Amino acid sequence: MSELHDKNNESLDFIRQKVADDLKSGKNNGKVLTRFPPEPNGYLHIGHAKSICLNFGVAREFNGLCNLRFDDTNPTKEEQEYVDSIKDAVKWLGFDWGNREFYASDYFEKIYGFAIELIKKGKAFVCDLTPDEIRKFRGTLTEGGKESPFRNRSLEENLRLFEEMRQGKYKDGEKVLRAKIDMNSGNINMRDPVIYRILHTPHNRTGNKWCIYPMYDFAHALSDSIEGITHSLCTLEFEDHRPLYNWILENLSVSSHPEQTEFARLNMNYTVMSKRKLLFLVEKGLVSGWDDPRMPTIVGMRRRGYLPQSIRNFCDVIGIAKRENVIDIELLEHCLREDLNKQALRVMGVLRPIKVVIDNYPDNNGEELEAINNPEDLSAGTRKIKFSKVIYIERDDFSENPPKNYFRLSVGAEVRLRYAYFIKCVSIIKDDKTGEIVELHCTYDPATKGGNSPDGRKVKGTIHWVSSDNCVAAEVRLYDRLFTKENPAEAKDEDFTSFLNDKSLEVIKNCKLESSLKAAPKGAVFQFERLGYFCVDPDSQPGSMVFNRTVTLKDTWGKINQKQK
Ligand code: ATP
Ligand code: MG
Repeated sequence: MSELHDKNNESLDFIRQKVADDLKSGKNNGKVLTRFPPEPNGYLHIGHAKSICLNFGVAREFNGLCNLRFDDTNPTKEEQEYVDSIKDAVKWLGFDWGNREFYASDYFEKIYGFAIELIKKGKAFVCDLTPDEIRKFRGTLTEGGKESPFRNRSLEENLRLFEEMRQGKYKDGEKVLRAKIDMNSGNINMRDPVIYRILHTPHNRTGNKWCIYPMYDFAHALSDSIEGITHSLCTLEFEDHRPLYNWILENLSVSSHPEQTEFARLNMNYTVMSKRKLLFLVEKGLVSGWDDPRMPTIVGMRRRGYLPQSIRNFCDVIGIAKRENVIDIELLEHCLREDLNKQALRVMGVLRPIKVVIDNYPDNNGEELEAINNPEDLSAGTRKIKFSKVIYIERDDFSENPPKNYFRLSVGAEVRLRYAYFIKCVSIIKDDKTGEIVELHCTYDPATKGGNSPDGRKVKGTIHWVSSDNCVAAEVRLYDRLFTKENPAEAKDEDFTSFLNDKSLEVIKNCKLESSLKAAPKGAVFQFERLGYFCVDPDSQPGSMVFNRTVTLKDTWGKINQKQK
């Protein structure tokens, strides 16, 4: 057993506890082999990250291994693009499957052999009922099913028909192979489930070799067994499939019988987490793509500025349990802020600039001031920022008619410019036609350099700024929740899109950022002081930078939970 889990068994979740117990009792010859088994029919989302962290995490913690297995049994929906994106996502999250990259399609010949074995044992039959009829014959939760009239075909006939199915003699849906179990089972999955179907669709790995494909339950149990998986961890919706999983392995001459254990899937509010729904958003152009920064996909979150460790920490914090619940998206953002706060370099950027002229500042080239890169990590050092006669401040940081307790800038009031001086606003200039304020005139107090007044004068407000002759213009994209409703999936079918938040993306052009950001690399995340965390979007080009707001600074989740402590 690994160091990590030697001492501290009480704190283990029920799955890790089980793995620890199995190791103690010598089960599986002291081995741990898990797998992450995605179907390559879409991009991975934050829910998959939970499963990845669990499967790879358990392997890592117990000196075991974890396979990456593509469950590619439905060629009508699967594509190489998805295979590649899944590999990227797992790698980016920080996990390594070594050379254990497997595909259910690699086992098609073996799985076919197992189907033949079932037929020969009288435990599978070729059925000619239509899909509709099969559904009708299946019965309901309260009513038993009805046996197929084809259930008692002879072994020879079944073998011949199944072989003919493989040869391509029949059309899609014309025949299926079904396990012969029990049409009166209380568990509908055990009512002679279909284990093979005909699909005349080329497969992205096996090409035209097959026109029959094993169904998920059959392929999954056998793939686990072929690979010698010890702990097959899956989400709760498969609990009712476990008897079938076990039936398949008990009735075939397999060399290993993995144990399936279920855990609660991750649900999160204000988003959807079904690949089908996410694909729908992409296909209808309701988002810019799988990597739209509002998507709960790993690529989307990465583009948004998430760090892999923030996602891993989040998965740690939510833990593994047996009962379904809904996680507040604010917890995810809390985990993100915790990491970014430690790492992100602080810079100044003005999103909605207004020009400020400091009338009594010398008409020279300005001066350089020293700014701290990260107060949470002094080893990040300091940098020089340029101060000059004309600067930009945030439009919101000035008020013509300041309410009570307004500590930012207004005519006659004094405010501190971060790292620079106190300034006082003396007059405003408005556009003749629109009446909009276009320029502020201020004076500065040279004695307050660095932000303190020698005469002890108090100034409550501190605002950020950038120098007008030493800044870079950029586009900044602000994001909000993708949906306005906590549980958009409550809606029927496609209606969930009616809960899309039409204010979830706001694009601001011509923001003014400090010039150190001119050549910031794509993906880099910064804290824009007072505004939030922002990362460089891949759309950035030299001379036209694009930033995404990763998350704001305000941490309501942290606050609420601190109060409760
Ligand atoms: P769909 O979204 O179409 O229901 P899926 O998310 O189940 O499909 P798979 O590719 O089969 O897609 O998932 C791979 C693995 O990830 C499975 O083992 C599945 O249990 C797990 N998984 C999927 N969604 C979640 C989730 N929300 N929380 C935890 N694990 C998940
Ligand atoms: Mg699935």
